[in-house]
Amino acid sequence: MNSVNQIKNYINGRWRDSQSGNNGDVINPASGQVIASVPLSSKEEVEEAIQAADQAFDGWRRVPVTKRIQYMFHFKNLLEEHAEELAKIITNECGKTYKESIGEIRRGIENVENSCGMPMLMQGTNNEDIATGIDEHMIRQPLGVVTAITPFNFPAMIPLWFLPYALASGNCFILKPSEKVPMSAVKIFELLDQLDLPPGVVQLVNGDKSSVDVLLEHPVIRAVSFVGSTNVARHIYATASANGKRVQAQGGAKNMVIVLPDADMDMTTRIVGDSAFGCAGQRCLANSLAITVGSAKDPFTKAISEKAATLKVGYGLEQDTEMGPVISAQSRDRVFGFVDTGLNEGGRILVDGRGKNVASYEGGYWAYPTVMDNIDPASSVAKTEIFGPLFGLIHVETVDEAIELINSQAYGNMACLFTSSGAAARQFRYEAKAGNIGINIGVAAPMAYFPFSGWKESFFGDLHAQGHHAVEFYTQTKVVVERWIRDWDRKF
Ligand code: NAD
Repeated sequence: MNSVNQIKNYINGRWRDSQSGNNGDVINPASGQVIASVPLSSKEEVEEAIQAADQAFDGWRRVPVTKRIQYMFHFKNLLEEHAEELAKIITNECGKTYKESIGEIRRGIENVENSCGMPMLMQGTNNEDIATGIDEHMIRQPLGVVTAITPFNFPAMIPLWFLPYALASGNCFILKPSEKVPMSAVKIFELLDQLDLPPGVVQLVNGDKSSVDVLLEHPVIRAVSFVGSTNVARHIYATASANGKRVQAQGGAKNMVIVLPDADMDMTTRIVGDSAFGCAGQRCLANSLAITVGSAKDPFTKAISEKAATLKVGYGLEQDTEMGPVISAQSRDRVFGFVDTGLNEGGRILVDGRGKNVASYEGGYWAYPTVMDNIDPASSVAKTEIFGPLFGLIHVETVDEAIELINSQAYGNMACLFTSSGAAARQFRYEAKAGNIGINIGVAAPMAYFPFSGWKESFFGDLHAQGHHAVEFYTQTKVVVERWIRDWDRKF
């Protein structure tokens, strides 16, 4: 146990040991071994971070935006330089493959790059002469102290959906990362520490629900960004908004993909397979159910089963690994539990991912790709977010039926369609009730300059993460009406 890394908090510009006496284990899911100990910070420690951020805010908002973005340019360069090191940390604490970790960092860096456009992004608007000699302007000002509470599945990218925009627009920021994967955030804060930001502008507070509750209730916190499961997202939205805060709370998902008979079956199988089994099915944008239409049923069922059966499962830092473990033993048992449920609900196993192990990593949390056919659209397997590599198949006769199934879902994070018909694509884009749409795309992840538009039970709030939404979320508008009238104006 002596060699286990003791995670620290980063408060007021310094690394600090938590005094809470309460710790959790950080586990490498490929080996089952404890690799770090994470503090579950006390109420006083969270409050200390909030106070430090509050004190830093007046100075930070006065730093010109052109100077604030210089920190972001520097931060981007440091992230690029340390990408490989960060990717290894992500793989070791989260389980995904090295390539997936690098991909995650890229998507995070894109947000840092985007935030470098803040001088234009947060520009206001104005009208001269709304009445003779009177002008009106709308300016954007930062909110103050804001926070983000993030999940385990993208330990580097998701904090970067928020942090760069919050800082570049003049706010002070507190991150509460997932206690399952705190090490990536520590690395990110080691890089932030090299920027010589004024103390208090960024803070890292580790913890669990009790630390979050302090953030949700504290009067200094002006805005809360959350990404995680739907039940927690609902709780965060209700509690933080009841405490007068802005909230954007991204929740869970159950993403369906429609496969039409005219789809390119090779491309479809490759892309849907990557979506279903990439990150071991632990993406909020994973395709977890396919709806085949008409004669797409047989070729797609055969091809996706072959793909699932041949994926190389293993430790993510080994070169040929195509899929890593799930995050915990509990998560693996939950996936297997849903396989049993699916069987009881009339499903049929085509590829069984249970009871398999990776040589030399027998302690890891292995759930191999599983494909189930005959999923009843009304069953719990069809309706529940399983968050693992269990892929289900439903077969219908028309595209209308398929879209209807998607629209009857509680979630609305993403929906995809594979086809070569422009008319079908247009109908789908127009009618599907989901915030992110993929057409011949399996993971319709918006680029940093577009909002991450979950709908329904996948999102609670108004303004999403990324792009212009992020700028609006982290700023408040002020309208100024000014009269500077001179005798000369009175002539008109
Ligand atoms: P989670 O909801 O268990 O935890 C997320 C965060 O909330 C963590 O920081 C955790 O410490 C905190 N938390 C947990 N329970 C809490 C409670 N009762 N009160 C206050 N805070 C609490 O989620 P997870 O298991 O870490 O992540 C997986 C989930 O995240 C999946 O449901 C996935 O779909 C979702 N997710 C959604 C998106 C999206 O963009 N919509 C992106 C990634 C992940």
